[in-house]
Parts: sequence; structure tokens; C-alpha cells
Amino acid sequence: MAGLNWRFDNSYSRLPEAFYARLGPTPVAKPQLVIFNRKLADELALGPDGANDVELAALFAGNRVPDKAAPLAQAYAGHQFGHFTMLGDGRAIVLGEHVAPSGHRVDIQLKGSGPTPFSRRGDGRAALGPMLREYVISEAMHALGIPTSRSLAVVTTGEKVFREENLTGAVLTRVAGSHLRVGTFEFASARRDMDALATLVSYAIDRHYPDLKNSETPAAALLWAVMERQADLIVHWMRVGFIHGVMNTDNMTISGETIDYGPCAFMDAYDPATTFSSIDQGRRYAFGNQPGIARWNLTRLAEALLPLIHPDQEKAVALAEDRLEAFGALYIAHWTAMMRRKLGLSGEDAGDTALIEGLLSWMERRRADYTNTFRVLTTDRDGDEIYADEAFLNWRELWRARRGDLNTARPVMEAANPAYIPRNHQVEAALVAAGQGDMAPFHALLDVLARPYAERPGLAAYTAPNPEDNYRTFCGT
Ligand code: AMP
Ligand code: MG
Repeated sequence: MAGLNWRFDNSYSRLPEAFYARLGPTPVAKPQLVIFNRKLADELALGPDGANDVELAALFAGNRVPDKAAPLAQAYAGHQFGHFTMLGDGRAIVLGEHVAPSGHRVDIQLKGSGPTPFSRRGDGRAALGPMLREYVISEAMHALGIPTSRSLAVVTTGEKVFREENLTGAVLTRVAGSHLRVGTFEFASARRDMDALATLVSYAIDRHYPDLKNSETPAAALLWAVMERQADLIVHWMRVGFIHGVMNTDNMTISGETIDYGPCAFMDAYDPATTFSSIDQGRRYAFGNQPGIARWNLTRLAEALLPLIHPDQEKAVALAEDRLEAFGALYIAHWTAMMRRKLGLSGEDAGDTALIEGLLSWMERRRADYTNTFRVLTTDRDGDEIYADEAFLNWRELWRARRGDLNTARPVMEAANPAYIPRNHQVEAALVAAGQGDMAPFHALLDVLARPYAERPGLAAYTAPNPEDNYRTFCGT
């Protein structure tokens, strides 16, 4: 194919065979290109230069597999809503790893690419709406400065998928630092294959934490490093009001990137109990539970790694428990630093936590919009009537006194407080139009979200909270 300069080096396919099943994507009836992320392709020098839409569609549908690809479905396990299961890519194929000229190595994965030995009762396919949803939200996350998988293309397949009704089939091409998950380690551990586990540890270190290469206890070093990256990631999510929605251990990466945009959504009114996913009846993955769940998931990673942390199990447990304890403190420290940036507070003051909590509890009581409240503060403008509330005005006096000069605080606040997030009703409207063949609203939304921190005139519609407070998202999409 013209200009397809993917530089494959498929290191994952050189791992022990238990970690994957080799197979290619299942070709589809009539691939059609819906969207192609030219900018990302250029950044990674993926080309394909001079390819037409028909060629691109064949490539991103999996109908034409590049010569040096080593397609496979990854095996992994996971705790899903607390319950352990052996899993694997049931509807995804990793074509291989592309090494960009910068040296940056990425997985190129097709999602919705047909059944695999891990499909269980699933059809291996995906529908257009959810794939476009992952596209727009992952790209928004990237523009927000949050580690995430990226979206390279979406094609329709010319086939229907059945999800209570017939929907348009689609394939998403996703690019990620890797797809190693907490669940990949749980998989090796559950098989009681210590050699495979040790191999996986050194593989993950090579790929994501090369500085740890000469650690005395690689498994321990890896665990601590993953904890730090996850603490940073969750703090980012909490900064922008992102709710992942399905933080099962198979959806938590070793790289510290956000992956698997299923039932995720952004919160409007501030409420730690906010849950959008229709299947999360117990609100396990509510906004405010995310740090605790991250720690719970990291505990599962620690358990998987125990035999490699210390030969004496009791000592291994004590070491791991120490660090998990430290995760709590680390998270709070990072979260507080993040909140100081959102409020433009320089240095540290003993009263800061109370000041932060004061605002949050007011927001929760008044159901104030999380994003817009911080933007009102960023310019310290009066905002609409909700901000005329006496409790808010009292809080604002304390904040102004602590904050000092707004001109000094403002650049820091502007960089921490997005003006534009993917508002649920805007995302839905763009997906409905796309389903009818009109991609204009989708592109308009992508454009707005590509520069989330720079307020621009004429975009007020993108800052309005969802007028309906009953938004629901769906898993198993
Ligand atoms: P998720 O929580 O979306 O990451 O998915 C959990 C597991 O279900 C993964 O192993 C997926 O590959 C699998 N899965 C989800 N949807 C399908 C489908 N339509 N067909 C086969 N497997 C699926
Ligand atoms: Mg998943």
C-alpha cells in the first residue's frame, strides 16, 4: 500500500505463548472510512502518504493486514466489579508495535475486529456510536494533558451488529503505549507460572520504566512505579471531572494511560457519588470512589507480584502493605497540589485543605457545575445567580485573601481548569448526527475539545451543562 511506513517491532509477540493467541482480524463486508486522525498519523510518522480513502478503509477495517504485522489477541485476567475472571481480547486485535522516529513505541490495535478465542459469548464486534464515542473522549483527554490511548481511525464495516437492536458495525483503530494491564499480571499469577511472571516484569520495565532496569528487586520497583503513575493519572481524572465508569483491573494499565472508554463520562454538577454507567448499580466506580478503587486494583497487582517481591511471603506482604499505605498519602499530596493549582494558591498553607473542602461541599450542596465553577474563579467574575449565594461569597472572601493577586494566579488556574469538556449532551448529539451520516457536529466538537483551556467567543453552547440530569452510559457496547 502506498506510503504505509509502519515500522513494526512486535516485542509482545515474542513473550511466552500463553500471553496471546495469534490470529488476524476477521475481514468485513464493506469497509468505509468515517474518520482518520491525520495529525496523530503525522506525529507518529504512520503515513500512509498518498493512500486514498478506499485503501485507508481496508487497512483500518482489518481487511488488509500490513506485511510485517504480527496480529494477536492478548490474554489477561481481571477483577470485574470485584470478581476474578480469566479474560482476553474478545473483540480486539493488536496488529503490532510501531516504533516512531522519536523512538516512541506504540501498539496499534483494532477494536471491533471480529471474534477471538477470548470472545466468550460475544460477537467480537462493535457499533459505530461507541467507537466514535471512544474516539472523541480519548482525543479530548489527550488535549486536556491526560495520559491516554489515542484514536487513529474509525471505519464502518457494512455489517450490522445486534445490541437489543440492529446497529451499524464499526472498527476503531486505537494507539496506546501498550496494552499491558494489572490483569496481565493477574493472568500470569493465576496460572502459577513464575517464569512467565518474571518475564512479564522485565518486559514491562523495559517498555515503560527503563530506569528501573538494574533494580535489586525488579517486581517491587515496578509496583512502586506503577503506583506513582496511577496516582498521577487519577489526580488528573479528578481535576477535570472524568469518571472512567469501569475501573476493572483489566482496564487499568501498567503504563499509566487511560484506556477502555466504555461507559465513561464527565461530571456536570459536583457530586462525588456521580455514576453514569447503567450496570454500576452499587456505584462502585462513582467519581469519588476512583482513588480508593485505584488502590484496590493496585493491591491486586501487589498480590500477583508477591512471590517476586520477597521469597518469604510474610515479608513480601509487609513490604507491599507499607507501600499501599504510602499510596494513600501520595495520592492526597498530589491531589492537594492539584487543587491548589485549580484555586491559584501558591505555596502551602495549613488552612488549604479546609479551604478546598469548603468549596467542594458548597458545590455539592448547590449542585454547582464542577467545570464552570472553576472557570468562574479563574477570572474571578461574578457568574450567574448561583454564585450570588451568601455561603459562596463568604468562601470567596477567604479564598481571595489566601490567593492574593489574581494576575499572578490566573495563568496557573487557566492551565488547570478547562473551559471545555465533552459535555454528555453534546457528545450524544454529535453521535446521533454521525449515525445519520452527518459528521459536521462531530468535527465541530473535536475542534472545540482540541483546545480545552483557551476560552473562545461563540462557543457558549459547549460550556452548558446537560439540561437533563439523567444521563446513562452503557457497557458491553
Ligand atoms: P471491557 O470491560 O469493555 O474492557 O470488556 C471486558 C471484556 O469483554 C474484554 O475481554 C472484552 O474483549 C470483552 N468484550 C466486550 N465486548 C465484546 C464483544 N462484543 N465480543 C467479544 N468480547 C467482548
Ligand atoms: Mg477492557
